[in-house]
Amino acid sequence: MTSTDYTPVSGMDLPRFAGIPTFMRLPHVPVTSDQLSEVDIGLIGVPWDSGTTNRPGPRHGPRQLRDLSTMIRAQNGATGVRPFEAVNCADLGDVSPNPVDMQDGLNRVQEFFAKVKAAGVLPLMAGGDHLCSLPVLRGIASDSPVGMVHFDSHTDLFDSYFDGNRYTHGTPFRRAVEENLLDPERVVQIGIRGTAYDREDCDFADAVGIRIIRIEEFFKRGIADVMVEAREIVGASPCYVSYDIDFIDPTFAPGTGTPEVGGPNSFEALQVVRELQGLNVVGADLVEVSPPFDMNGMTAWLGASLMFELLCVMSQVPSGNA
Ligand code: MN
Ligand code: MN
Repeated sequence: MTSTDYTPVSGMDLPRFAGIPTFMRLPHVPVTSDQLSEVDIGLIGVPWDSGTTNRPGPRHGPRQLRDLSTMIRAQNGATGVRPFEAVNCADLGDVSPNPVDMQDGLNRVQEFFAKVKAAGVLPLMAGGDHLCSLPVLRGIASDSPVGMVHFDSHTDLFDSYFDGNRYTHGTPFRRAVEENLLDPERVVQIGIRGTAYDREDCDFADAVGIRIIRIEEFFKRGIADVMVEAREIVGASPCYVSYDIDFIDPTFAPGTGTPEVGGPNSFEALQVVRELQGLNVVGADLVEVSPPFDMNGMTAWLGASLMFELLCVMSQVPSGNA
């Protein structure tokens, strides 16, 4: 198979509102297929939100993100990158989740991503709530811990909720540090804001060396300066990018379960990803899009656009399969 078999269906050939909606109109390559080893970057849905503590719905995210992603074209208008010509990209389908058994759900996601990693495919995951990032990291970072650039209005570093429950979308990165999946001194969290229960998450970050750039500092310094520091923190070693759609101001991304006002606009949301160019990104995710709270698909459209920006950065990573 040549790379042209991984070219998305063009809107010039089939109107973009027609056909079966895979991510970005890419071919569907099941994770069990022999073709998996030909894929450089796999787009994967994790329709699972069992870690959600308040307003639910991200389990419906991957399907709506696929639908809106049919509006993506081949070329990045800002950077000129043409990811589908640089590397072989495919939609690897959804992890089949278990919505009623937390531990089985975690295991299913981990096994799927371990398979993807074993095939040499870089994963770009569409959630799902933010707990989904933990089993992804278990699947791809069990050999050695990775750095992380994390965009979010929350740290997701709490220890437990509801009398000792340690697996929620507010705890994934606490677990990931404890399990040695993340190197905390190579982790930066950007956009943190809003009311809080207490300082427990920030105290943990201070204790292990995670750098938190709150939204006030983000706007005071500006994107370019903040992202220079972010790139320095993660360095040249493998890193993961985790993008919670609630990083963005709810004016632009209302379709999410835990919105926080006073955030970046949609241009700033895209620009921070472009500033990741050159990092050794070994996996990424876009999580917490909740279609039941979305209006006219606007949050999912921004989410799909962010997935394209992430894909463009990943397509330039020299250590990929390409
Ligand atoms: Mn989050
Ligand atoms: Mn959040």
